[in-house]
Amino acid sequence: MKPAPFDYYAPTTVAEAVEKLAELGYGGKVLAGGQSLIPAMNYRMARPAALVDLGKVKDLAYIRPQADGSVAIGTMTRDTAVEQDEFIRKNFPIVAETVGYIAHKQIRNRGSFGGAIAHADPAAQIPALVILLDAKLKVLSTEGERWEDAVDFIIGPFMTTLEPQELLAEVLIPPLPAHCGCSYQQVSRQKGGYAQAAAIAKVVMDGEKVKDAQVVLFSVGETPIRTEQPNKVLAGVVPTAALIESVAEYVGANECDPGTDVHGTEEYRRNLVKVLVRRSLQNAIEQAKK
Ligand SMILES: Cc1cc2nc3c(=O)[nH]c(=O)nc-3n(C[C@H](O)[C@H](O)[C@H](O)COP(=O)(O)OP(=O)(O)OC[C@H]3O[C@@H](n4cnc5c(N)ncnc54)[C@H](O)[C@@H]3O)c2cc1C
Repeated sequence: MKPAPFDYYAPTTVAEAVEKLAELGYGGKVLAGGQSLIPAMNYRMARPAALVDLGKVKDLAYIRPQADGSVAIGTMTRDTAVEQDEFIRKNFPIVAETVGYIAHKQIRNRGSFGGAIAHADPAAQIPALVILLDAKLKVLSTEGERWEDAVDFIIGPFMTTLEPQELLAEVLIPPLPAHCGCSYQQVSRQKGGYAQAAAIAKVVMDGEKVKDAQVVLFSVGETPIRTEQPNKVLAGVVPTAALIESVAEYVGANECDPGTDVHGTEEYRRNLVKVLVRRSLQNAIEQAKK
């Protein structure tokens, strides 16, 4: 399949990019890594009148450690660059690990960190990850900049709060607290395939007790799901195997919304969620105690 005809612009600065988007309005679309947009155009599921390619905008591809321990990642930073970055691997190992589960190396070489967030695929790793880590997103337009919490940015399947003239520019991830452990767990039909269900956990310990327990699910609802039960039950107590099991059971039954498709039934995927929540919590607690 070939895409419908479109105009193509390749700005070299952020200012040029936002000006072009403002000029094009609803007809314009950002092209980042093209790993999702180009297939959609080839299938004629997307028919933008014009593409604004960010590939030559060098100011959007960076990984910048901040003085307070947080890290700023420019939207056009390729997945592979994030996965291999020394600062990220040392200070945010869950980021490098999670990105490593996206498709295959060839796709990660092209796909961009911010592009995955703007795309808001309910089966994508990075949107769930940035929600778990309480990231903030910088959005630019000719009107100026605005910041939004990642958790508020994604409002539906493939839907975000981005307006057509806006550009996602940066992802700011705050430092992980002391005594914090994280764990990524997924089940997919083959290596590199989209997850049938996945859970990412972040647990902060205070001695033997849990201080904070967060689990975000994806691929089991219309958006990533920030669950509530783990923290409700585990915060302030010693996390016994029985408690973790009860939390996992509750999340599988009540805090996800998987459908039935050719790869598995709703019942099967709820059971996957239960297992993945249990494993992610157990593993994150072990990491936090190290
Ligand atoms: C075979 C295959 C397997 C894949 N498997 C996975 C997988 O397992 N997990 C996964 O998460 N993804 C997977 N993907 C998707 C891939 O990771 C994409 O790269 C990613 O979802 C989108 O990033 P991109 O940079 O390619 O964006 P593009 O495809 O260029 O853009 C996607 C959408 O986001 C918009 N957009 C992009 N950047 C911005 C921005 N800065 N500001 C505003 N709007 C923007 C575009 O306009 C477009 O609507 C797979 C892709 C392929 C082809």
